[in-house]
Formats: sequence, C-alpha cells, structure tokens
Amino acid sequence: MDNLAAFDVNNFLKYAPHWQSALLYFPTIGSTNQEARRLLQQPTGPRELLLLTDKQTSGRGRLNRRWEAPFGTGLLCTLTLPLAPLSLDQAYLYTAIVALSLKKAAEQEADQTLQLKWPNDLLRTGLKCCGILAELEQVKNKFWLAIGFGLNTGLTERDLTEAGLSDKATNVTPEAATISREAMLAATLGFLAEYRLRLTTEAEVVRQEWVTSLITLGEMVQVLDMDGQLRLKGRAVGVDPAGGLLVELSAGETRLVQAGDVSVRLANGHYA
Ligand code: ADP
Repeated sequence: MDNLAAFDVNNFLKYAPHWQSALLYFPTIGSTNQEARRLLQQPTGPRELLLLTDKQTSGRGRLNRRWEAPFGTGLLCTLTLPLAPLSLDQAYLYTAIVALSLKKAAEQEADQTLQLKWPNDLLRTGLKCCGILAELEQVKNKFWLAIGFGLNTGLTERDLTEAGLSDKATNVTPEAATISREAMLAATLGFLAEYRLRLTTEAEVVRQEWVTSLITLGEMVQVLDMDGQLRLKGRAVGVDPAGGLLVELSAGETRLVQAGDVSVRLANGHYA
C-alpha cells in the first residue's frame, strides 16, 4: 500500500498520556533495538524508554535475520526496562508477557485471536504476524532489556511477495490497515504494565499462562539450526524453568532446545 500514514504520536498520547516523557519517535531508523541499546549506555544512565518507528532500514529478527516491513505497515517499537526483579534465567518471561499483551490487545482492539509460537512469535491463521526480539544489555553491574516487536498491520500481498514472505507472514487483521496502530499500542502497553506487576508477585502463574497459550506444545516439530539444517524432530512436550523447549524424540528420549540458536517448524514445515 502506498502513502500509508505515519504513526500518529499525538493520537497515541491521547490514549496513553503517561508515555509522553519516555517516548522517542523516528520516522525511519536502522533498528529500534540497536538504538535502544545505545541509549541504555549513555553516561546519563539507563532509563525506561519507548522507541517507535515507521520504518527500519536494518530491522532484525533473532540470529540477525532481516525483518521486512515498508514504511507505515507495522507497529515497530522497542521498550527498555530493567531485568530486576527477575533473574537472568527468567529474562524470557519478558518476551512471554509482551506476547501475551499483544494477544490480549489484538482480541480487544481487532477481535482477532492470535496464537503464540515458542519462543517469540505471534501467528494468525498459522502465519506470522508478529516477531519479538528481547536483547540483554549490561549497564555497569546491572542488566537491562531492549525488547522490540514488529506487528504487521498494513502489509499488502505485493509487499509480502516482494519480501518472499507470502507463505509465511500476514497482518494482525485479515484486511490490511484496518486496525488503529495507536490504539493497539496503547492497549498492549496497558496489558504489559499489568503483567509486569504480576511478575513481581506471581511470576509462576504468569509463566503458566504463557506455557498454556503456546500452540507449539503437543505438536510434532522440526528444530532447525541457525543455518537451516535439521537438528532434530520430535514432539514438543513442555518448557523448562529457563524457557527452553523440551522435545521428545521418537525413541522416548527428551532433548532441551534453547531459544537463542534454533528455529522451530511444524513437522510439515509450517509454523507452530
Ligand atoms: P524464526 O521465524 O525462524 O523463528 P526470527 O524470530 O528470527 O525467525 O524472525 C526472523 C524471520 O522472520 C525472518 O527470517 C523472516 O523469515 C521472517 N520475517 C521477516 N519479516 C517479517 C515480517 N514483516 N512478518 C513476518 N515474518 C517476517
């Protein structure tokens, strides 16, 4: 779609005025995660920020894979927040609560049911409509996170074809550009604030909510290495306390795979 409107910051702030002092909007930028990590290292010290853009020129997924989205076709942002009170091996719970918040917001704002795929994607009708990338940054002796997500809202068939994503990706709504990105973001951040609070008091309940939302569990999956080579095949049976996926091989043996270095597909090659 040509000439899509820029993200309307003033409209967003009508829904979520308290973000005013923490919001940074860039019409285009290399990558919001990268800029967020740079800002965390500024001499003035780290603080909670929300970086927003309409176009990334070097948007990334995990393993430095490209994230493709023409100007204005998605909700592209990064949040910075301290890892505390969670420990390093609980850091994945932030990805989990961003995914749960996006899912709730899509239900509320667009009447769409999204599926969570381990470890960091949201799907609609089996196609990826959102990717989340959480990166840890050590600032002096404390850890912070830069959590970025890209939610497709206005990709056309042509955009998808040009990016080679026709059989892989979709928008959050069946028709492109029918959701208010500003309302969607405000709703997501509202749910996220609730989940963050709950992580301080009932992290295990939140973790369970995430685990039970994962469509990956129970499915026959293929686990691919960084270079796309098949590492193993089996049934995804659970998630360990540090967020790793437990896969049961046909011989009955269970293997643990870590989110950082694998991709997971259904046994038939589709997303799960
Ligand atoms: P994986 O999908 O294997 O888990 P990542 O989480 O690292 O991989 O996400 C990067 C991948 O997402 C890219 O390799 C590409 O296939 C896909 N991708 C890129 N841009 C988009 C987009 N706008 N929508 C959906 N998927 C995308």
